[in-house]
Amino acid sequence: MFERDEDDPPPAKAAFRPLLRAGARFGREAAQRPILVFEDVYKSYRPGAPVLRGMDLAIERGEFVFITGPSGAGKSTLLRLLYRAERVDEGRILFMGRDVARLTTASVPFLRRNLGIVFQDFKLVGSWTVFENVAITLEVLGMPARLIRSRVGEALERVGLHGRGHDPASVLSGGEQQRVAIARAIVGEPALVLADEPTGNLDPQLALDILGLFEEINEAGTTVLFATHDRSLLDQRARRLIVLDEGKALDVPNGAIPVGCDNELAI
Ligand code: ADP
Repeated sequence: MFERDEDDPPPAKAAFRPLLRAGARFGREAAQRPILVFEDVYKSYRPGAPVLRGMDLAIERGEFVFITGPSGAGKSTLLRLLYRAERVDEGRILFMGRDVARLTTASVPFLRRNLGIVFQDFKLVGSWTVFENVAITLEVLGMPARLIRSRVGEALERVGLHGRGHDPASVLSGGEQQRVAIARAIVGEPALVLADEPTGNLDPQLALDILGLFEEINEAGTTVLFATHDRSLLDQRARRLIVLDEGKALDVPNGAIPVGCDNELAI
């Protein structure tokens, strides 16, 4: 699912340390720090066309944050830098106190155990069952089969797919497939869930249902970063809203969205 960096430094001496859970399981010291900090981050794919230009952003534990901006503003880039599918050109990304930008390749899987990621196109294996698609997150950790069964059952229940574990993923509707992807993202109890246009392939009512699921996940203590350019979703709730503009992250207070645009934000 993830790309590897070709130009990584030599193997890690120490893996990404934290395997901290949502909410109350953080130690007192860790709980006092933001879970995520972008510090003066620069990223460009081509010379002279920077996507992020000195971006600063701090996310507190337990927040639900919308990231928005028109197509091409850098929403996916921001998330990809965080889960280390891309590397920063300059700056720091501190996740649970560790600089993600400077992790070695060997430490990246440990980073990703602390992240749940949901994509627009679900990224399920169609020939696998629903259960198998969710269980893979725990199997790669070497968890005992009995524990996997109960944890996957719980996750499927949380996303409203109780009893659907034996269905092949390919027979599910789009909305159901996205629920499976969400179950896969949360089954490992990550500290932070990232969603990259998770409703982009869904009709408006399903999109609202999926937004509601992320809100429930957040209410249970998990920090959520939800990237979307769908204004109808942003209008739903007065949530913290970050707008990517000219390569910087602007905090737009109280969910107030700049006027002058329809569904596609254009600021
Ligand atoms: P968004 O998610 O807001 O639509 P992206 O982060 O996907 O924005 O893209 C930001 C800019 O970076 C766009 O101009 C896009 O074309 C460019 N871009 C993204 N990924 C790559 C890549 N792998 N190679 C070259 N350019 C890229």
